Amino acid sequence: MSLQVIKQRKRGFICVNAHPEGCRRNIGRQVEAIRQAVPKPFEGVKNALIIGASTGYGLASRIAAAWAFGAKTLGVFFERAPKEGSTATAGYYNTMAFHEQAREAALYAASLNGDAFSDDLKRQAAEIIRKDLAPLDLVIYSLASPRRIHPRTGQTHNAVLKPIGREFTSKTIDLNTEKVVPVTLEPAAENEIEDTVAVMGGDDWQLWMEMLASENLLACGARTVAYSYIGPEVTWPIYRDGTIGRAKLDLEKTARRLNTTFGSKLGLEAFVSVNKAVVTQASAAIPVVPLYLSVLPRVLKNNEQPIGQMRRLFVDFLAGGDQSLLVEPWRVRLDTAELSSDVQAGIARIWPVVTTENLYQQTDFTGFKRAFDNLFGFDVEGVDYSQSSETESSW
Ligand code: NAD
Repeated sequence: MSLQVIKQRKRGFICVNAHPEGCRRNIGRQVEAIRQAVPKPFEGVKNALIIGASTGYGLASRIAAAWAFGAKTLGVFFERAPKEGSTATAGYYNTMAFHEQAREAALYAASLNGDAFSDDLKRQAAEIIRKDLAPLDLVIYSLASPRRIHPRTGQTHNAVLKPIGREFTSKTIDLNTEKVVPVTLEPAAENEIEDTVAVMGGDDWQLWMEMLASENLLACGARTVAYSYIGPEVTWPIYRDGTIGRAKLDLEKTARRLNTTFGSKLGLEAFVSVNKAVVTQASAAIPVVPLYLSVLPRVLKNNEQPIGQMRRLFVDFLAGGDQSLLVEPWRVRLDTAELSSDVQAGIARIWPVVTTENLYQQTDFTGFKRAFDNLFGFDVEGVDYSQSSETESSW
């Protein structure tokens, strides 16, 4: 037992602690969003594996799988457990709250906290799936990681967020000082591009699917979805045309390869879903993106959050078969509102005029900060932060 009053501690785009009660409320709100949208669960997904299931898009996917389909879920993630008075990470508390809600709804949930890139964790996942979730109808791949130890070579690959070919100068928000500052990013070296592709590209997704297929753990006609981003022109040099964009191209290539390899053999369908920009731990760390995420709500009326996007993916596409979301047989687009020409024209209009002095008027920086704090369970409506919370329980 460790009861304590938790005060937020953050540095720039990193928050070093988390609030269990705030995380619980966040999960409750997301579960409710799906419950409201789906009064009676759909058929078609009985067993789902979600890789990267504790925060952001993966967490919203897990909630959607459980409450839109009534699916059993196995969630895989890498989170810090509470230790010696320090709180756990938000993803750990999110998972605790997910398990609580799943128990109440009589939904099976299992979770594995460890390195999804490792063979050992894949083996542990296979054991759980064989025992309780076989065959899988759905595999969601939603990892966002700064590094990967390659299971075959033992080599550590570090991902970088850099432009390719030439340096890129833009502006960003210094989250410590709240100043709008110029930022110049040097172009990536060839090995940095390769390393980023090794971490955020499709290689690990492919290894997961090969392992599941060779162990006979996939249902005939199973589906797998990984997530990508394209974004507006102001972020292209650092995102779409940068090192991370190369990794996403590799992810798309992997989707096509998975369809070719396992499509005829197993009836597997592999998709990449291009999602809209949202505030997550991964996106807040990308230079330029916090400023973009502050401008976006000013011009995008329906600024969907991960659970809204995943409601569309799970309900409209996976359950309802809405083909209008497919732009290619393997590519789903959930970002069309964000990338519409009027929204992008609005961004292009506001972007050049934002300064430190007018940041709060020209952009929704207040909303960005709140969304960021919410990720860690802070500044969540209805939570009394003067009360102590139990930080040391588990699921
Ligand atoms: P996130 O930081 O919220 O979640 C990352 C997840 O990966 C967490 O569950 C974390 O525990 C897990 N993880 C990280 N390293 C791991 C490891 N070694 N082993 C096991 N689990 C590990 O990130 P997110 O923004 O939700 O991103 C998920 C995916 O969605 C990424 O592919 C990202 O590119 C994509 N995407 C994000 C956005 C956005 O705006 N945030 C937009 C479109 C697409």
